[in-house]
Amino acid sequence: MPLPEKSVSPLAAPVSSVWGVGEERARLLARLDLFTVEDLLLHKPRRYEDRRKFVAICDLRLKEPATVRGKIITAGVKRFQQGRRTLFECVFDDGTARLHCRWWQAQPWMEDWYAVGREFLIFGKAEKLKPRTFEHPETELVEPGDDEFIHVNRIVPVHPLTEGLTARVLRSLIWRALEKYEQDIAEPPRAIRAGSPEPPPASKTVVKKAEFQLESDQVIPGAGQPAPLPSRAKAVRMIHFPAELAEVERARQRLALDEFVTMQFQIQSRRRKFEANARGLPCGGDNRLMKPFLAELGFKLTAAQAKVLREIRADMAGAHPMRRLLQGDVGSGKTAVAACSALMALEGGFSVALMAPTEILAEQHFRNFSRWFTPLGIKVELQTGSRKTADIPSAACVFIGTHALLTGGFDLPKLGLVIIDEQHKFGVTQREALVRKGNYPHLLVMTATPIPRTLGLTLYGDLDVSVIDELPGGRGTIKTFVRTTDKLAKVLTFIREKISSGRQAYIVYPRVEAVDTDQDIKAVKKEFANIQQALVPFTVGLLHGRIKPAEKEAVMTAFRANTLQALVATSLIEVGVDVPNATVMLIENAEHFGLAQLHQLRGRIGRGAHESFCILISDARHAEAQARLKILAETTDGFKIAEADLQLRGPGELLGQQQSGLPDLRFGKLTEDLDLIRQAREEVKLQLDFAQGGVS
Ligand code: ADP
Ligand code: MG
Repeated sequence: MPLPEKSVSPLAAPVSSVWGVGEERARLLARLDLFTVEDLLLHKPRRYEDRRKFVAICDLRLKEPATVRGKIITAGVKRFQQGRRTLFECVFDDGTARLHCRWWQAQPWMEDWYAVGREFLIFGKAEKLKPRTFEHPETELVEPGDDEFIHVNRIVPVHPLTEGLTARVLRSLIWRALEKYEQDIAEPPRAIRAGSPEPPPASKTVVKKAEFQLESDQVIPGAGQPAPLPSRAKAVRMIHFPAELAEVERARQRLALDEFVTMQFQIQSRRRKFEANARGLPCGGDNRLMKPFLAELGFKLTAAQAKVLREIRADMAGAHPMRRLLQGDVGSGKTAVAACSALMALEGGFSVALMAPTEILAEQHFRNFSRWFTPLGIKVELQTGSRKTADIPSAACVFIGTHALLTGGFDLPKLGLVIIDEQHKFGVTQREALVRKGNYPHLLVMTATPIPRTLGLTLYGDLDVSVIDELPGGRGTIKTFVRTTDKLAKVLTFIREKISSGRQAYIVYPRVEAVDTDQDIKAVKKEFANIQQALVPFTVGLLHGRIKPAEKEAVMTAFRANTLQALVATSLIEVGVDVPNATVMLIENAEHFGLAQLHQLRGRIGRGAHESFCILISDARHAEAQARLKILAETTDGFKIAEADLQLRGPGELLGQQQSGLPDLRFGKLTEDLDLIRQAREEVKLQLDFAQGGVS
């Protein structure tokens, strides 16, 4: 299905079709990535200036932003320090008083531009009142002309600019573009799509209009309903030339909604196309292997695990290949769910591939799956960068690996299910590559990073989501403390005590190797000896990315066996590692880790019945770092932490590798537009249902 007919819209015309844009201005606009009329119309203002009320210069107040209007009575360059530092200063007069405006480092063009007698609008704030002075104000030349109404006596937009293009010129261009093209700003096709065989029944359309609060400026009758969003054409005008500042946000929401609709359209039509083309392999299972597996597992599945498994089974027995995201906080027991899903496929005679982001985690899965599945007569193979399987068994089996699974000639016959653990560590492309390996296998991706709903509905919009919202019982609590470096000795004494009573500890640093230029950031290699000394007579292991795989495995095995009581490591251990006897997590330079990452690291403890302790060491002063650490100390709820992370650092940090998959949004805000995203999703669904003739 094609997107709304962009190519035939008059708005696709080049910027040069706006009066006043010649070659030179087109070149300047291109620097702002503005090529078409539509680009110009959607060039979002950086801020607004209320020019309905100018302040008389005599009424300026200290440090209060204001716009004044005045004529230049004197101007000139002053030199300091033998001419190395220059100051351009001019004095404006508006008939009530004088205003000094100063710019450090005078530019050559200033003397010509700020010529005596010219009139300017000046936006700034008074740094002092005797004499009244603005430092580096923004100005705009008042040119006598008939477009004065664009630039004064209203709220005016100030757009992102580029050298050679003034705010005034750009504002005029956008004004003209609006005048000429406003009637061409079409509503994107909504509930009724062009080319649909027949519009939906009128009553239904009305209901949908009301629900979506869209399409018209008329207030829909009915008490307590929020005001409807403006039409798209109105919104475009309002975003540039609002009558009141309050209109700006409504216009933004309207334009954001359109962006989300476009995005949802892509996601949902891709998904529908996929479903139309791909048949699901019959992997519902018959419990032949599941029963003995559960009997031997040693614990009973939690209600949440069981619920998720029912969802997975329905998918794997269904007509279309499963595309499911399993979200469960650290320690919620996703591995057991993966194992059960694998058994469903195996019961159907299909093989399973399980991909993990690190060798350590792949090996841990290999050990668990071998222990569980070998007694059932199922082969489990491991393939990592350092370990290759010679030949692929002919019977259905389980293949576990890192992304090495993707490389080389690996090709599993009868691949029925692909499981990706710690999905957020992989890019979308890697996920796709693995799924393409077989004949549309089922896909289960698992993540402990609770994805805030806004992102879930956008980035993972093509996946169904299951959530394990319950931790297995019998777990000890986790206490989290934030401490400064001067408490380190005390903390180490505490760790010794815990180890003496039989527990184990992780000690994590941000770096492998110390860097001379940044002595404050600690590195494992350097601290290892200190920790060994501090914890005598106990033994300490070392783990980081530059250690050889075989050695890594040996260290993990020793730690698991409690031959090593403490592990000094980088964030390499962040994902998946499961050693229930480890109850202490010490993280130094904690401010160097993201919130989501700290939460993952903390998830390594609290896996057994004993009480656990997470100690975050940080001397960071800045507010953002402190806010992050405070959140961690206050909650262990991964969902709250992810939401906070999204607010504090934006979506990039949270998604790591997947940044590239982030949609390009001009008006939409992933951090706050959940309602709009939901609305867009529903709307697109309705639209596609209708196009498919499936409304009922
Ligand atoms: P994650 O969701 O972080 O991958 P794991 O699958 O590693 O969590 O499980 C964490 C620990 O909880 C493991 O030691 C696992 O054996 C245990 N576990 C999983 N499910 C249950 C359950 N239903 N009851 C008790 N323990 C469980
Ligand atoms: Mg896990």
